Amino acid sequence: MKNINSSALFSRAKEVIPGGVNSPVRAFRAVGGNPIFIKRAKGAYLFDEDDNQFIELINSWGPMILGHANELIEKEVRDALSNSLSFGAPSRKEVEMAELIVSMVPSVEMVRMVNSGTEATMSAIRVARGYTGKEKIIKFEGCYHGHGDSFLIAAGSGAVTMGVPDSPGVPQGVANDTLTAPYNDINAVKTLVENNKNKIAAIIVEPVAGNMGCVLPKPGFLEGLRKICDEENIVLIFDEVMSGFRLSISGAQGILGVKPDMTTMGKIIGGGMPVGAYGGKKEIMQKVSPAGPVYQAGTLSGNPIAMSAGLAILKYLKGNPSVYTQLDKQTEYIIHGMRKANNLLGLDYTFNHIGSMFTMFFTNTAVDDFESAKKSDLKSFASYFQAMLSKGVYLAPSQFESLFISTAITTELADQIIHAHEESMREIHSK
Ligand SMILES: *Cc1c(COP(=O)(O)O)cnc(C)c1O
Repeated sequence: MKNINSSALFSRAKEVIPGGVNSPVRAFRAVGGNPIFIKRAKGAYLFDEDDNQFIELINSWGPMILGHANELIEKEVRDALSNSLSFGAPSRKEVEMAELIVSMVPSVEMVRMVNSGTEATMSAIRVARGYTGKEKIIKFEGCYHGHGDSFLIAAGSGAVTMGVPDSPGVPQGVANDTLTAPYNDINAVKTLVENNKNKIAAIIVEPVAGNMGCVLPKPGFLEGLRKICDEENIVLIFDEVMSGFRLSISGAQGILGVKPDMTTMGKIIGGGMPVGAYGGKKEIMQKVSPAGPVYQAGTLSGNPIAMSAGLAILKYLKGNPSVYTQLDKQTEYIIHGMRKANNLLGLDYTFNHIGSMFTMFFTNTAVDDFESAKKSDLKSFASYFQAMLSKGVYLAPSQFESLFISTAITTELADQIIHAHEESMREIHSK
């Protein structure tokens, strides 16, 4: 695989951008080698600066659920371009966007647009604190909620991959207000709540975790959180930045049957543009400035181009809910093929899967929290990643990530992915 132009760009980048990238996991540190610089993408394919092409299973970490450069979204964005890139004043599309989100996610009665998932979660806990008058929050080990100070504690994904679960620069005082429990461990949450009576403002959770690899909630876990929050006047926040509009038109909460008080959104909601949102019960959201006293603002929030892209993708998903059944089927097909290939080699690695999200963990044991995810053989994952890349399949460059299937993955492409997997597994297994 040619890598001349990407290598040259990476050398230049390292001089002027920390680590050569604008987000850590992109640097390939967990899998070795130089990152690949992407020139363009279309449908299921990425094309790099050396004109290699890859079938793509990250989709910009989730947003491109309809594949790249989708005509529908492109048209809406193009139509909006000539009306100026930003107003900094209210506009019609923001109202349409809020109405659309409220119509799709039943637990969300009011919503505020922001510019990233990080902003959404940071703002949501501020609102929860303002609403309850309490300060502590509970999060789960291996869950990622963006890079806000309060969340960089046992934060999964990039933080894990980079070996800095607790980042320097996060004040001890802030860290003290973040309590952590193992994912799926309701008793640990009960103990934390008992030991911090009337001090906990919010419990924030990925209802389906995607940032320690794909990890599903055990039956009763989310229900248990709901019950504790009701009894203790704690705001239950579902961080659906990844799962929102990915697992159903109303996110993970739409298929798991538990209603949070607040929801944070991002990724798909912008169709590839930098967008996030947080919303929830009216009673809580009325606390947000200027309706209420909790301050939160954004010069570019509700940006007209971003709203155009977001509206286009959400409208499409709402109008075509069968997309989700198709995506689920295609994902199952790929997993079935991969599992079969593994079995032929006498391997029984764990696959976690829901809808169009999945992770193959390089371990035989069940993965239901961060401890069990960490049992994965990371060296084998790195070899597998490189083998897949050399066969033209671009995976997330870390074991602790979920893969995403887009509607651009046809059965023919699925077969190619399975074939690349088969060959890659044989290669690394024979080493
Ligand atoms: C990606 C992600 C975030 C952060 O979103 P950014 O747009 O990267 O700031 C927060 N929570 C979850 C669950 C995510 O997957």
